[in-house]
Parts: sequence; C-alpha cells; structure tokens
Amino acid sequence: MSDWQIAIERALENNIPKVEEILNQYPYLKDYGVQLRQTKEEVVNNLEKYVKQTMESVKRTGGKVYLAKDAEEAREILKDIVGSNKKIVMAKTNVGHEINVTETLEAKNNQVFETDLGAYLIQLSHGESSHIVFPSLHLTRENIGELLHDKLNMPVNRNSTIEELVAQVRQFLRQRYMEADIGITGANSISADSGSVALVENEGNIRIDTVFPPVHIVITGIDKIVPTLDDALKEVMVQSAYAGLYPPTYINVSSGPSSTADIELKRVSPATGPKEFHVILLDNGRMEASKDPDMKEALLCIKCGRCYFSCPVYRVKGSSWGQPPYGGPTGAMWTAIVNKDYETANYCTHSGGCREVCPVQINIPKVLEHIKWLFIDEGQNNLSVTP
Ligand code: SF4
Repeated sequence: MSDWQIAIERALENNIPKVEEILNQYPYLKDYGVQLRQTKEEVVNNLEKYVKQTMESVKRTGGKVYLAKDAEEAREILKDIVGSNKKIVMAKTNVGHEINVTETLEAKNNQVFETDLGAYLIQLSHGESSHIVFPSLHLTRENIGELLHDKLNMPVNRNSTIEELVAQVRQFLRQRYMEADIGITGANSISADSGSVALVENEGNIRIDTVFPPVHIVITGIDKIVPTLDDALKEVMVQSAYAGLYPPTYINVSSGPSSTADIELKRVSPATGPKEFHVILLDNGRMEASKDPDMKEALLCIKCGRCYFSCPVYRVKGSSWGQPPYGGPTGAMWTAIVNKDYETANYCTHSGGCREVCPVQINIPKVLEHIKWLFIDEGQNNLSVTP
C-alpha cells in the first residue's frame, strides 16, 4: 500500500462514522444546512449589494476594508499593510494560499509561521495541501514523526503516538505567538450587517492569532459573505459538523479592533487586543461566476470538505487532482473559478456521491459538466486554421 492509500483509509475510518454520529446527535444541523443554501443563494444573486454593505459595516466597527479584484491586487494591498521585517503568525487560510501570502511576504523580508498544525506540516515539508480542511491528510503519523525529527530535531520518530507528535508542535508554535507583530487569518464567514468575521477551530491557534498580535489581517473571498451575524454563526456550526468536528472547541468572532466601554460606557478603541483590523475581500473570478447561471452554484460552498470523502476520484488521486489549495470535487469547481482551469473537471466520473453528502446540496456533478463544456469550447476557440 502507498502512503496515500494508508492515509486516506485511516482518514475515512476516523471521519465518516464521526460525521454520521454528529448529525444523529444534533439533528438541527441538517436543517441549518438547508437554510444556509437559501441564505447564500440570496447573497450570490445580489453579490454587489452585499459586498458594499459588508465594506460599510467593517468601516463602521473601526476596521479598514479593501476590495481586491484579483490575486495581484490583493498581494499589493497586503504588502502595503504589512511592510517588511515583521514576524507573522498565520492561521490556515485557503484564500491566503490562493494569493500566495507566504511567498509574497517572505520576499519582503518578513517571517511567516503557519499556526494550524496541518498547514504547519505542509510548510515544514515544502509540500502541497491535499484537502481543503485537513491539508496534511496525505501524511501518515509515521511520515510526520520522521519529518519533525529530521527538520526540527524533535525527540519523536515514526513510532511516536499522535499525542506525542502534537505535544512537540504545541511547544514549538506557542513560542511564535509571543513574538508576532501581525496575525493573519481567513474567514469561515463574514456578516454583511455587522462586518463580523466568524472563524471556527479546535486548536486554539486562531483565537491567539486574532487577539494576541497588535494587528489582525483577514483575507477572504466575497463568497464568504452572509447577510447577518446569525447566518455567519450557523455557517461555522454546519462547517465544523460536516468536517466531523462538532461541537467545535472554539468559535471566534472579530468585529473591528479591540475596544472597551468600561469608562463612562463610552466605547473606545483599541483596548488590550489588536489595535488594527484589516479585511481584504477578494473577488478573483467570484463576481463573474455569480453572473453565470450554472457556475454560481459553486459559490454556495461552505468548504466543509465532506464531498472529498465520497469521491472515488479523490480517493485515488489525492492532491494530484486540482490546483492547491483547491483539490477534490469542490476544488475542481473552484480551480475553474479562480484559475480559469477548466481541464481539471474532466476527471469527474459523475458518481454523484459528493452531491448526496453536501450540507448545502450543491449539484457538483452538474457544475463540473458545465465546466467540461467550457473546456471543450476553449479548445475549439484555440484551434488555429492555417490558410
Ligand atoms: S461542495 Fe458541499 S460538501 Fe463539498 S466542501 Fe463545499 S459545502 Fe462541503
């Protein structure tokens, strides 16, 4: 058996029964998924209006907000905010990966540390993410024991337990927070009515990244906008349940820089937490997709990663299907939206398992069929006829 086959077998064994157990124990989560679909359809059908409202709300809470039309513009905005010679802690962000945050900031002489365990293992191994929620899914505990020993001289090896591996990384990462000038995160959802960024996690790294450094920068796609803070919280609950991690250890909400009203009940900012709060909203093909009757379905995705495990192609191909961070069935849709890569969809066999398990009932095979037609059209347009 290859390392990938071992890793995916172990992941399926641990994750699939867990999600079923969660959905049986907390039946309201399935209803939330259905409600979220309607909520997100409303946003996708009126995306410009909701982007504008979100930007106004972030400003109202004392934050700074930017709309980047593509990855290049987002990188320029980020470089202006960060400057150089900074220490940065970053919680796993797929949109951050989409715009190459680490490479961009390191080129300006900054140090960037991933703080999510899976994302940190990818950074350490110079590898690529293999799952949208669990980026190091392809690494077995034996691989990780060797990696930590070889790269960081940690007292672990291929026979170490998972608990021993996690304890070593915990010690290493906790030191990084104390020195950080800036914390960067993505967003699981952002509410248009209050400009609040909601993030769900279990490790505690996001909570520290968002409150300990003096500056918090959020990088997220405009598809993460939902109308209200109530919707944003529902989205993180559904996301964590379908990832097999419910109840989540932490749900974090950030609305502007830190503040206090403890003196004469007048709310002033900053208080103990971050003194600056920046939100970079990334378009990068999302607005165009929202106007395409077939493609806009993909924008409903809440990135729970559930569809990966029901996909026979992903189970075989792993990270070699799609362009990281967007692999797997949902990644084939997202690779088309952000990279205009229509070829990746061709691997889909239309088994339909992804659609059955999706909490927001996205018809992934139908979207991928549409992308396959775009690929054929593109090929025909590129045919040159020699006179
Ligand atoms: S397509 Fe559905 S199942 Fe797949 S990641 Fe998105 S929301 Fe989850």
